[in-house]
Amino acid sequence: MSDKPIIVWFRQDLRLTDHPALARAIETGRPVVPVYILDDTGPGQWALGAASRWWLHHSLLELAADIERRGARLVLRTGAARAVIPALCAEVGAEAVHVSRMYEPWAAALERDLKADLEPAGVALRRFPGSLLREPEEIATQSGGPYKVYTPFWRALRDLGVPRPPVAASAHIASPARAVGSDDLAAWGLLPTRPDWAGGLRDAWVPGEAGARKRLTTFIASALKGYKEDRNRPDLPATSRLSPHLHFGELSPSTIWHAVASAAGGSGKLDADSEHFLKELVWREFSAHLLFHFPDLPDSPFRPEFAAFPWREDASGLAAWQKGRTGYPIVDAGMRELWHTGYMHNRVRMIVGSFLVKDLLVPWQQGEAWFWDTLVDADLANNAASWQWIAGSGADAAPYFRVFNPVLQGQKFDPEGTYVRRWVPELGKLPAGDIHAPWQAAAATLQAAGVVLGQTYPHPILDHAMARDRALSHYEAVKVKA
Ligand code: FAD
Repeated sequence: MSDKPIIVWFRQDLRLTDHPALARAIETGRPVVPVYILDDTGPGQWALGAASRWWLHHSLLELAADIERRGARLVLRTGAARAVIPALCAEVGAEAVHVSRMYEPWAAALERDLKADLEPAGVALRRFPGSLLREPEEIATQSGGPYKVYTPFWRALRDLGVPRPPVAASAHIASPARAVGSDDLAAWGLLPTRPDWAGGLRDAWVPGEAGARKRLTTFIASALKGYKEDRNRPDLPATSRLSPHLHFGELSPSTIWHAVASAAGGSGKLDADSEHFLKELVWREFSAHLLFHFPDLPDSPFRPEFAAFPWREDASGLAAWQKGRTGYPIVDAGMRELWHTGYMHNRVRMIVGSFLVKDLLVPWQQGEAWFWDTLVDADLANNAASWQWIAGSGADAAPYFRVFNPVLQGQKFDPEGTYVRRWVPELGKLPAGDIHAPWQAAAATLQAAGVVLGQTYPHPILDHAMARDRALSHYEAVKVKA
C-alpha cells in the first residue's frame, strides 16, 4: 500500500459522522489530510456573511478538536481554492482529493475545474454525496427535466424510498508521517471584535457536530410531537432550529431523516408530525434542486416578466426594516430577533419578507442580501428560493395577490404577543389585544403601558392598506398570472 495521502477537503460538511468522502478516504488505509480553505475569491457577492463567519469559526474549532481526538490534524489554508488545492497536493504528494459535492454554481464549477487541473498531475478529484438526501440528477420529471413545483418533487423523492442510512464515524484517522503546516484560526479574524455584536449568537447556539446532535435529540424529544400544528408559532419553541447545522453540514439530512423515522416507530409509516417535518426538510432539497438547474436563481427573477417590475429604491424604508423600526411590531420583532440571534422564525421570515417586497416595494434581492449577511443559516439555495417565493417571481411562488397583513399575522401566530414582547420590550406592557397594532390602542392604554408613539416606538412607516393596493396594482401591471 502506497502511503500517498488523500486530502479530504471540508467545505459545507463540517462533520465526521455520515461523511462518505471522509469514510471512503479512511477505508483506503491511506493517510488522510483534512483541510479547510477560507476562499473569498470564488463566490463574489456571496462570500460568507458576517454571521456565517462567526458560526464558521466555532464550527471549525469543534471539527479540529474532533479530528484531533481521532489522531489527525485539521489543516487550515486561505486563498483561491483553485490554487491552494493543487499546491497542497504537490506539498503532501497526494494521491487524491475527496470532496462532498456542493450545488452552488461557483462551487460546482470549481469542482469541475479542479478535476481537470489535477488530472495531468495524476491526482484524482473524487466527489461524494452526503449534503442532500438525493443527488439532483436522481430526481427528474417524466420528460427528464427539473421539477419547478414542490409537491410533485416531494412525491418523486418519497417514491425513491428511504434515503441511504448514515455512515458511522471512524474512531481513528491516520495522518501522514510529516506534519502539514496550517494557519492559525484566530488569525483569520472571523469573529467580530469592534464592536463584538455576537453576544446574542453565543447565547443562542452551540455550533459544531455535538451541538447539532444535541439539538436534534432535544427537538425529537420535546417538539416533534405537535410540530405540524405549532410550527407556525414564533412564540413557541416548536421547530428544530437545525438550519445552521444543516447549512454547515454538521449534521447530514440523512441522519435527521433516519432519526425522525426511527422515533416515529421505524416501521416506515410516519405519523403526521414526522411526515410534516420531513416535508420541510425536503423544501431544502427542492431549493437545492432549483439552484442546481437554475444557477441564476439568487440574482435574477425566475419568471422573466418580473424583470420589468417597478421596484422602488427606498433607502430609509430599507434601513427602518433592517433595524426593526417599521412601527409594525411583528415585523420589528422578527428583524430584531435576526440581528440579535442570527435567526428568525420561518413564519416571521415570510411576514418581514412580504413587508419589504410588497409593502415597501423594495427589490427582493436587497432583502436576500441582508439575510445573507445576518443569518447564521444563510444558505444560497434556501435564501434565494424563499425570497423569490415571497416576491412571486419564483418557480413555485406565493400567488402575487397574497400580501401578508402584519397585524392579522401577528394576532394569529403570536396571539398573546409573547414573541413581540420578547424582541420589542418597549411594547411589553401593552395588552395582547393591542400589541400588534399599538397605533389603534386607546390613549389611556398607551399611557398605562408607557408607550409614546413617535418617541418610545415608531409610528407605522406606511399604511398597510394603502401599500397593499399599491402592490396589487403594480403586480397586475406586470400581468402575473396566479
Ligand atoms: P424546521 O421547521 O425545524 O425545519 C427543518 C429544516 O427544514 C430546516 O432546518 C431547513 O433546513 C429545512 N426547511 C424548513 N423550511 C424550509 C424552507 N421554507 N425552505 C427551505 N428549507 C426549509 N433557510 C435556510 O436554511 N437558510 C436561509 O438562508 C433561509 N432564508 C430564508 C429566507 C426567507 C425570506 C424565508 C421565508 C425562508 C428562508 N429559509 C431559509 C427557510 C426557513 O425559514 C428556515 O429553514 C427555517 O426557519 C429554519 O428553522 P428550523 O431549522 O427551526 O426549521
